[in-house]
Amino acid sequence: MNYFSSRGISSPVSAAQAITMGIASDGGLFVPETIPQLKIGDLENMKSWNYRQRALYILQQYLGDFSRQEIELCVNSAYNQSRFNHEKIAPLVRLDKGLFIQELWHGPTLAFKDMALQILPHLLITSMRITGVTEDIVILVATSGDTGKAALEGFKNIDRTKVIVFYPQEGVSVVQKRQMITQEGNNVYVAAVAGNFDDAQAGVKRIFADNNFAARLQAEGLKLSSANSINWGRLVPQIIYYISAYVDLLDAEEIKPGDKVNIVVPTGNFGNILAAYYASRMGLPVNRLICASNSNNVLTEFINTGSYDRNREFHKTISPSMDILISSNLERLLYEVTDHDADRVRGWMQELAEKGYYEIDDNSRSIIRQNFQGGYCSDEDTLDTIRKTWKQYRYLPDTHTAVALNVYEKYRNTTGDTKPAIVASTASPFKFGSSVAQALLSPAMLENKPDFELLKLLSSAAGIEIPTAIRDLESLSVRHNTVTTAMEMPETIARFLNI
Ligand SMILES: *Cc1c(COP(=O)(O)O)cnc(C)c1O
Repeated sequence: MNYFSSRGISSPVSAAQAITMGIASDGGLFVPETIPQLKIGDLENMKSWNYRQRALYILQQYLGDFSRQEIELCVNSAYNQSRFNHEKIAPLVRLDKGLFIQELWHGPTLAFKDMALQILPHLLITSMRITGVTEDIVILVATSGDTGKAALEGFKNIDRTKVIVFYPQEGVSVVQKRQMITQEGNNVYVAAVAGNFDDAQAGVKRIFADNNFAARLQAEGLKLSSANSINWGRLVPQIIYYISAYVDLLDAEEIKPGDKVNIVVPTGNFGNILAAYYASRMGLPVNRLICASNSNNVLTEFINTGSYDRNREFHKTISPSMDILISSNLERLLYEVTDHDADRVRGWMQELAEKGYYEIDDNSRSIIRQNFQGGYCSDEDTLDTIRKTWKQYRYLPDTHTAVALNVYEKYRNTTGDTKPAIVASTASPFKFGSSVAQALLSPAMLENKPDFELLKLLSSAAGIEIPTAIRDLESLSVRHNTVTTAMEMPETIARFLNI
């Protein structure tokens, strides 16, 4: 199967090429030529398969130039119990009749990014071998928190790769920062950048566009690549778990073959929910995809009106991984709903770049409305939902998952739609523990407590152990203390790489 650029100018490439290149040379995102279809009986058959077998079957349909053995090796290296602390990898938890949570955070960094970033390095190395790339790959990441750590864990000690993460000096949580500055591995580099996430991101973008720097790297046998969700290799592994969740519901006899489900996803860059859309286009019986946002509600408005407008105030919220105004993966959805009309998509993306605004046609809007429902909630509602979910079900959601639960409850109340719902849970409650603690504990208990102390209080109040990956952070030694500025990033990279 070939992959096209969503902007239609670059020529089609194979899966391995799409994964090695990351982004098309015309600036578009790679999209599959056709969407593979599940066959009658596939979902029933998968009931007796484990997560690795399900992953192998689904990935085979997308990665045409990989051999079965190659995919099997990638899958087995990623989804095993030395990397994930749950044998089901992405287990479903039943909260109530017709309400299920899929926990996507049993990987090493306790956020759903691991579901893709544990396998991406293996897909990338295999793609490099298939396409005959001779340079070693340098992965550059600007992170607002979760992606950086997940990329470090995914790529650490992987041959022929190096990973360099820039995080904003102001703007990551204490836990997130410690996760990164204590990172182990022989090919990992971390630097704080003075300023906020936009400064770090702008610096990385400048380097990707700098031909002189690329030439300097190439002379040393190195080549830059990206691990963020514009890479198809990060998106395709996310399709697996939605199909797996449906199969688990069949297996538990919660649904019958063909029954439709709703899928609720706390959304930022639109990667995770887009994977659910591809699963539905493969033939997974999905009624609505519910796109949940925090007060950065640009997607809610887009789904409701067909207008995308990034010219608005940016809010810093307690669900920071969704604090985003440009959702890159929406471009892939636009390409699908316009039936691969790359000219139209390119036009809208140009308007977005020039004016920060675009409006889609009525037909595309109505296709989106048939598949998606959008909603958002405030920080106060998020804390309220954590409190209520704990009280009602003794289940502790993180702040992002709570946004999804809140938006789903409003959807169910206003529409009366009680079809079974799968809510994607994107982080462990301890990853955003100080906010979760605020929901559960009294202000007096919280006063003047350092973050790690709050985690201990939360743990004893909820009777849930702090995951070892977070508990151990306090005692790990700091290995990365580089501080740089956006302008000095090229020199920082050169020093890291010894070139
Ligand atoms: C990245 C992230 C999200 C948003 O996912 P997108 O694919 O960017 O929409 C939601 N929750 C958490 C915890 C995340 O780390």
